Amino acid sequence: MPHSSSTALFNLGEFGLISRIAAGVRTHESVITGIGDDAAVTALSAGMQLLTSTDMLLEDIHFRLAWHDPYRLGRKSLAVSISDIAAMGGIPRWALLSLAIPSDLPLDFVDDFMRGFLAMASENRVVLIGGDTCSSRAGLIISVTIMGEQLPDRIVRRSGALPDDDIWVTGTLGDAALGLKLVELEVGGVVKSPPFQGEGQGGDGVDFLINRLLDPNPRVAAALTLAETKLVTAMIDVSDGVLADYGHIAEQSGVGGCIFLEDIPLSGDFRRHTAGLPAVPYQLALSGGEDYELCFTSHRSNRKKIIDCMKKCGIEVTRIGIVASLPGVTVVKPDGSKYCVQVEGFNHFT
Ligand SMILES: [Mg+2]
Repeated sequence: MPHSSSTALFNLGEFGLISRIAAGVRTHESVITGIGDDAAVTALSAGMQLLTSTDMLLEDIHFRLAWHDPYRLGRKSLAVSISDIAAMGGIPRWALLSLAIPSDLPLDFVDDFMRGFLAMASENRVVLIGGDTCSSRAGLIISVTIMGEQLPDRIVRRSGALPDDDIWVTGTLGDAALGLKLVELEVGGVVKSPPFQGEGQGGDGVDFLINRLLDPNPRVAAALTLAETKLVTAMIDVSDGVLADYGHIAEQSGVGGCIFLEDIPLSGDFRRHTAGLPAVPYQLALSGGEDYELCFTSHRSNRKKIIDCMKKCGIEVTRIGIVASLPGVTVVKPDGSKYCVQVEGFNHFT
């Protein structure tokens, strides 16, 4: 496919755009018929069940073109969907992508977006098998449907947490929320824009924090390991802040929880950039969204096994609390008093 930057999206047309996208797709033996027919044909592995999830990303609600470059936007559009399959212990396999594109969006933007989307796909062995394109009069609209598979007894739901289980999270919390604060300052001209650097940590940590927001890395390997070992009773990905997301586990499991404030894992860059503040902004770590880490519960007898198997995946894991039998999730300070959290995650309808 020629990649002439002078080719306007308008001249290319829908079918031209689809073949341009299809040309970059890497396939997999599970895909029997991919892009190009009326429907895709795929084969589930023996004994596995299908997992399906869909997400919409709307310009100025989920992302802003002022700070989200097309490459990382493409990566993130698929990453957030992969994260949902991972949170069920599923193996991500196939994706459908639908785009409503403003007619004045440069073709280069679409090319870079697709480059990012397909890079995230191939890093996670996901195949793009179809979708739809049309023009939008209300900004860029991205819709991703993802499918995965897993053996029935390895699928992990939100509903299995038991009283006295430990509550765990992977990685660190609050980086993406702090990254959002930094990116808002950047758009205001206060912080310099970082170039794309993959997962590397560089400079004064600003780029690490902003990358955590703009280019999240779904915890597929960690989630699959946890699913295979059957150590976990419930699992969710942290998209709306750990307090809200653990709240979903608690609600669906008919339990409550106690989270220990000082055990919330914070990155070195998070600590560095909040060091001058009068108090550690735990609100960001508890209620800030978009970390895309895993939150899960497991019987206390599994502590060592969990630490060992996450170490093998190269993933940090921290025990942050205990499942309680009575409903309600509380955050407790080291002195035993209750920590009040003002905001609970992001809600589109408030
Ligand atoms: Mg989720």
